[in-house]
Amino acid sequence: MARTAAERGAGVITYAEATDIEPTRVHIRDRLTGDEHTLRARQIVNAAGVWSDTLSDEVELAPSKGSHILVPAARLGDPQAAITAPVPGHFGRYVFAVPWHNGLVMIGLTDDPHHGPIPDRALPDEGEEAFLLDTINAVLEDKLTTDDIVGGYAGFRPLIKSSDSTDSADLSRRHALLRDSRTGALTIVGGKLTAYRRMAEDAVDDVVKVGGLRAGGCRTTELGLVGKGTPAPGLPDRLVAVYGTDAATVVAYGDADPSFNEPVREGIPLTGAEVRFAVDHELAVTIEDVIDRRTRWGLVDADRADLYDAVARLAPELTTESRG
Ligand SMILES: Cc1cc2nc3c(=O)[nH]c(=O)nc-3n(C[C@H](O)[C@H](O)[C@H](O)COP(=O)(O)OP(=O)(O)OC[C@H]3O[C@@H](n4cnc5c(N)ncnc54)[C@H](O)[C@@H]3O)c2cc1C
Repeated sequence: MARTAAERGAGVITYAEATDIEPTRVHIRDRLTGDEHTLRARQIVNAAGVWSDTLSDEVELAPSKGSHILVPAARLGDPQAAITAPVPGHFGRYVFAVPWHNGLVMIGLTDDPHHGPIPDRALPDEGEEAFLLDTINAVLEDKLTTDDIVGGYAGFRPLIKSSDSTDSADLSRRHALLRDSRTGALTIVGGKLTAYRRMAEDAVDDVVKVGGLRAGGCRTTELGLVGKGTPAPGLPDRLVAVYGTDAATVVAYGDADPSFNEPVREGIPLTGAEVRFAVDHELAVTIEDVIDRRTRWGLVDADRADLYDAVARLAPELTTESRG
């Protein structure tokens, strides 16, 4: 999505943390160098998700943590479809075991209120692992244990605070536009990933109207994302599934140097070509960008050290946030 925006003239700057907003000014800190800058803009949009309340005192969120665990698919008999287990005591709430890639199944997810600061990277805690295992085990003959867990990840839903409910699973998933009375910045928050285009349209319409900006009509209902279209014949299915028509660009690295077609390690199909694509086309500047964000190969704990070494070798220009 960011690449599609960049293709149409948007400036994309990663690791630029907004530390404070003033009317028509945003203070920025470079998370990699610590350098500080001030940007000026007629209209400012705060789209910092579950962190958006750190940039506007008037945004009140009730974050909810959602955790997933990964287990080997073989432990569930290599399922080809999702397994669904009802959450006891809840109507219409389920835990899913969904076939993921590379012989793994992802089991999720939790929905628990979270209090306190939101970390950059979160993992399931012991209680969440136990909840997911207990719930899915109710429909399995061969029960899973914590020894089967090979990895996992967690995120925080940016739910908007409501006085009506204390159960985060009941809070509205609708999005909201909020104008900060002190800074004039617009916060767009809440909502669902599936509604991202509509959220962006609502936010842009608002800044155009309030800021008196000149703009044409919204075009994103018709706009495909980069990688759309019919891929050239003969491209590997796995790469087409991830990159669409851009699979051809990934494959070209291997055509120029066949060593880029090699998996970074036995058991991890990520290739050198994909690492180079992340750096050259997807603005990856750290090893974590490659293994956690542009790809998701870093989710298996036992693979992380090898991934760090392989990516550092293939893309020596990358820095790292922290080794681990
Ligand atoms: C576990 C989980 C499961 C979910 N499942 C679904 C689902 O199945 N379907 C669905 O539609 N939705 C789902 N959602 C909801 C969906 O992920 C969110 O609604 C969506 O990501 C919100 O998008 P956003 O752009 O507002 O925020 P985010 O995607 O969180 O993006 C905010 C961005 O702002 C950046 N940022 C934060 N602070 C600053 C700062 N100070 N300066 C600069 N940048 C900053 C962050 O790094 C981040 O990149 C799920 C959410 C979670 C947590």
